Amino acid sequence: MKKQEKKYRGISRIDSHDTHGWFVRAYKSGKTTSKLFSDSIFGGKEQALKKAIMFREDLVQRLQNESRLGNLNASESGKKRLSKTQDPIALAKKAMKEAIAPYSKFKVGAALVCRSGEVYTGHNIESPSYSLTICAERVALFKALSEGSREFKEIVITSNSEDFCFPCGACRQSLMDFAPNIKVTLLNKHGEQKSFKIEKLLPNAFSKSNLKRKSASK
Ligand SMILES: [Zn+2]
Repeated sequence: MKKQEKKYRGISRIDSHDTHGWFVRAYKSGKTTSKLFSDSIFGGKEQALKKAIMFREDLVQRLQNESRLGNLNASESGKKRLSKTQDPIALAKKAMKEAIAPYSKFKVGAALVCRSGEVYTGHNIESPSYSLTICAERVALFKALSEGSREFKEIVITSNSEDFCFPCGACRQSLMDFAPNIKVTLLNKHGEQKSFKIEKLLPNAFSKSNLKRKSASK
């Protein structure tokens, strides 16, 4: 145990009467981020440790990028707003420029803001089969979920269109499944913006509560 604690700096073990897991902590530029990897959630002690190590390596990398981005933004634009945190609008626009959209030429970028302040970006990725194409919103959401994030505040969606790019039905459902209170902010190419609650975009959504009701009635 001590050996592992030494080897993986920033990861410690918690074994209390009700909690068994690895506690990850990282500091950068005065910012602290922490997360518990519970054995029961990640399928055992070894699996939880592996996940914790991966999370920490990624977290340190992300915090380094963030402070680099902060410095870059501060020196380039002088906007203090960008120097403290990752600006989701700027990140969504940046992601949009990297869109893989050779068929439609319709580029979309998304930036998903987690409750922790982390931001995950995504852009649309088109397939020549068309049906395998995936939207920017779900790329950002699935990236965040696969990295262990579960609480989301806002998603910013921007495109190279005159019009606002509303999320498609599949993306609305995916957002509702994992972030039923999320704010959806849309930007057009001129930088004008509109915001909606996801429940406004997908009223009467099917959710896990429908499944509970069904099984309860049997
Ligand atoms: Zn979509």
